[in-house]
Amino acid sequence: MSVSSLLIGWYRRHRRDLPWRQTRDPYAIWVSEVILQQTRVEQGLPYYQRFMQAFPCLSDLAGARTSEVLGLWQGLGYYSRARNMHQAAMQVMERYGGAMPSDYASLIALKGVGEYTAAAVASMSSSEAVPVVDGNVIRVLARLHGLEDDPGRAGMRRRLAELMKELMLGHDPGEMNQAVMEFGALQCVPRAPRCGDCPLSHHCKALALDRVEVLPFRRPAKTPRERHINYIVLTDPSSPRDLFLRKQDHQGIWKDLWTFPMVESPVAIQEEELSANPDFHRLMQGVEYHRPSLVLCLRHILSHQRLEACFFSVGLKHPSSTLPQELLRFSPGKLPPMPRLMHRYLEKGTGQGPARKP
Ligand code: SF4
Repeated sequence: MSVSSLLIGWYRRHRRDLPWRQTRDPYAIWVSEVILQQTRVEQGLPYYQRFMQAFPCLSDLAGARTSEVLGLWQGLGYYSRARNMHQAAMQVMERYGGAMPSDYASLIALKGVGEYTAAAVASMSSSEAVPVVDGNVIRVLARLHGLEDDPGRAGMRRRLAELMKELMLGHDPGEMNQAVMEFGALQCVPRAPRCGDCPLSHHCKALALDRVEVLPFRRPAKTPRERHINYIVLTDPSSPRDLFLRKQDHQGIWKDLWTFPMVESPVAIQEEELSANPDFHRLMQGVEYHRPSLVLCLRHILSHQRLEACFFSVGLKHPSSTLPQELLRFSPGKLPPMPRLMHRYLEKGTGQGPARKP
């Protein structure tokens, strides 16, 4: 039997039953694809369900406030995905009267939609023969064909796309894209692939040449940037559970999310050093406060950064101190969208726990 038929047969027997596989609606497929970027299916599934419940149609998403969209995204990370999706929904309203396109050319012209997402949505919603080349596809094809090249190189990407197109011949392109991705996710996994019961084992070059462990080619990982961030958790004696937060309005991964005000330092600092920090002074100008007290430190890993985040509690001396304009007060029951790091602090510290050094 051909490799393509073996793959489709395997997929029909083993595929996971997921809601976006029961539909040809390009909007629903697009939402699932964006949520699943950099996210495991088990983690992404409840987000998908909540998102589709809140915004069942594209017009619902386009008409939502950014804070609502980001609120539903909390904890998933890579918030630019949610912001782009929101803007792309507005583009679809303008360009297509709210009808989500299902062809590759129109999809890739939308904000934040890249080759991978456009190919996935077009092939799964309208069976357009555009190959998906993601991490799972790269791994399966590199092992199957014994390809040693760097998948980051344009020539190798073209070769992988051609191989996917060959697999699609005589099959539904959307089903083949999903079959190879699912095969990579469940069978030909990165570590300890299940070669013993693999239906492709007789066709697999990497297995024959004992190259399974080293394929696909991987570039050495870049060392993430280390940052020391000191968050200032202000407490008002008249309502100690309220939080004072600042909206991140700079272009960055946390744009439009809310965090405690912070000062950055080149190395980890203690309470006295924070008190002497000029940025801290600027923040607290004209405000009377008690000595900062370190509550806890958390390590937080982002895609290209490793944060050592220390949270300092700073009590205000007077209940209605005039604080910098950009700091807004929130009660614990009505918090705005915040990055996961802030939630980690609220879960672990809430300003009362013992200090924990990084
Ligand atoms: S034999 Fe092993 S390495 Fe080759 S395709 Fe199957 S699972 Fe992947």
